[in-house]
Amino acid sequence: MTFQDLGLRAELLETVASLGYVAPTPIQAETIPHLLAGTDVMGQAQTGTGKTAAFTLPMLHHLESDDLQALILTPTRELAIQVSEAVYRYGSSMGVRVLPIYGGQSYSRQLRRLEKGVHVVVGTPGRTLDLINQGALNLRHVKYLVLDEADEMLKMGFIEDVETILQATNPQRQTALFSATLSEPIRRLATRYMNDPLLVSVNPETVTVDNIVQRYYMVNESEKVAALCRLLEMEDLQNTLIFARTKVGAGELAETLIARGYPAEAIHGDLAQGERERILRRFRNGQLTILVATDVVARGVDIPSVSHVINFDVPQLAAEYVHRIGRTGRAGRGGEAITLIHPRQRYVLKMIEDYTSKPITKGKLPTREAILAHRYEQFREDFAEQITPDATEEEYRLLEELIAAGYAPEQIALSAIRILRSHENQRPLEDIRTVEEYKERRDKPKSAPKTERRRGERTSHEQGMVRLFMDIGRSEGVRPADIVYGVASAANIPGRAIGAIDILQDETFFDVPEQHVEAILDSMKQSRIRGRLVTLMLAEGLFDGPRRRGNGRGGNNNNRGPRRDKPRSDKRKWREPVL
Ligand code: AMP
Repeated sequence: MTFQDLGLRAELLETVASLGYVAPTPIQAETIPHLLAGTDVMGQAQTGTGKTAAFTLPMLHHLESDDLQALILTPTRELAIQVSEAVYRYGSSMGVRVLPIYGGQSYSRQLRRLEKGVHVVVGTPGRTLDLINQGALNLRHVKYLVLDEADEMLKMGFIEDVETILQATNPQRQTALFSATLSEPIRRLATRYMNDPLLVSVNPETVTVDNIVQRYYMVNESEKVAALCRLLEMEDLQNTLIFARTKVGAGELAETLIARGYPAEAIHGDLAQGERERILRRFRNGQLTILVATDVVARGVDIPSVSHVINFDVPQLAAEYVHRIGRTGRAGRGGEAITLIHPRQRYVLKMIEDYTSKPITKGKLPTREAILAHRYEQFREDFAEQITPDATEEEYRLLEELIAAGYAPEQIALSAIRILRSHENQRPLEDIRTVEEYKERRDKPKSAPKTERRRGERTSHEQGMVRLFMDIGRSEGVRPADIVYGVASAANIPGRAIGAIDILQDETFFDVPEQHVEAILDSMKQSRIRGRLVTLMLAEGLFDGPRRRGNGRGGNNNNRGPRRDKPRSDKRKWREPVL
């Protein structure tokens, strides 16, 4: 089953492809066709199954006018934000305007946004009802309504609010209800307010992770390779499967590991069948200890049981996680599952823990000193084992000749040790900062010349230059060179044409000459920065009016620009050198 088979419109197919979704998840495959056909659906699915896309994609497919057409109710503010981000992401190619509304946020901003017009509101029941009662939220044209995590909403005592909201909407609307459990009160709600709903239930895979020791390490995106290398040195690796998100990522990682002397190889979809089989054979018979794979290929081939599964890139779906780590701990034997997580992916961890009902323990990366001590011990043991009283004639002759040439036996032995240990230099120990150190460094002004522009400004200060916005930043390891090289080579313009670059945590602003803007916007639709497709747009006009600073509100909340829900710190941040 593919997304094409589901009958979604072309823009949405492009979007899911650009997000790297290969196939619909079971809940998507089972609900999307019915939701597209206009049927009410009651879906039993928990987070981590892809349920958000299951109700969002059909909703976007049906969008047609500029009215408020869809309302999604969620139990919590966090979920409202998360779901609106998903709506924004899935609907970016359609220019969807989505507004999260929840208590604790200023009314005036929400009212202003509603007045300007939005297509989709994602709200918590309390605040949604408030705005309806104030006459600010008009649900007359809402033809698609979603109750997300309905069981949670009932548990939190929102049942009456939900019912009142349902009564305020057009009875002709289509309704989708998603819930992890379908208890009696939920079924009652469905009977009263839904039109002959179709029940879809995806059985969670039987999750057995009992034999597997699960650990995670919190690392900054740009230091993941260094962190992985430290772990590889200290673990008692037999055969290890490392998961990377993309083909390119898998290939690059394997090359890095090979350069450090690990018998590693990447296996991904671009390899011919014969080549894949050759690699797998070498992995099975122990010639390769490390296999770097993408999910797609791992699903299609028969990979033997391994001692370690390492999630270099965290999977997007909880089911995928279970599937990945199930490659270890087979046949009653123990296995190790290690996951590298960067701070913004904490929620994924929680989602996985909820899904498996098992905690994942936080690990601490080995220090440089621990690794050096380990190398020392390792060498001493290995070397001592190999010291023997016998030698060949030739070895005697070599030793005698060296002594005759004036070298002391001790000197010769020491040099031999140094030479034998020289391969350790092949594995440099890069510095790794803790997440806290990383943040501190980032937030500290490096040197703040008075004339410095504010970071992330949306207009260029240079004549003839235009500011662009890209949805990738330091958290994914972006450096100025990535921007210069990526953009210049895609648009076929000289690198020096690219002006000031501001790399923020999750976004980047940079200046380009006016005459190249179109070519750049165009060419970047197919090009990648750090291995992924990015959203690129004019920075100016991304947000309402001038950004207010210092009033604690940031004024960046109008949903046309990404990351709108995150309070923006007014602290001056460490600035990347401007090229
Ligand atoms: P949800 O269950 O809606 O919270 O989704 C969990 C995660 O799965 C989100 O990070 C989605 O981006 C991701 N996701 C949704 N659908 C797919 C899919 N078909 N393939 C891969 N990842 C997906």
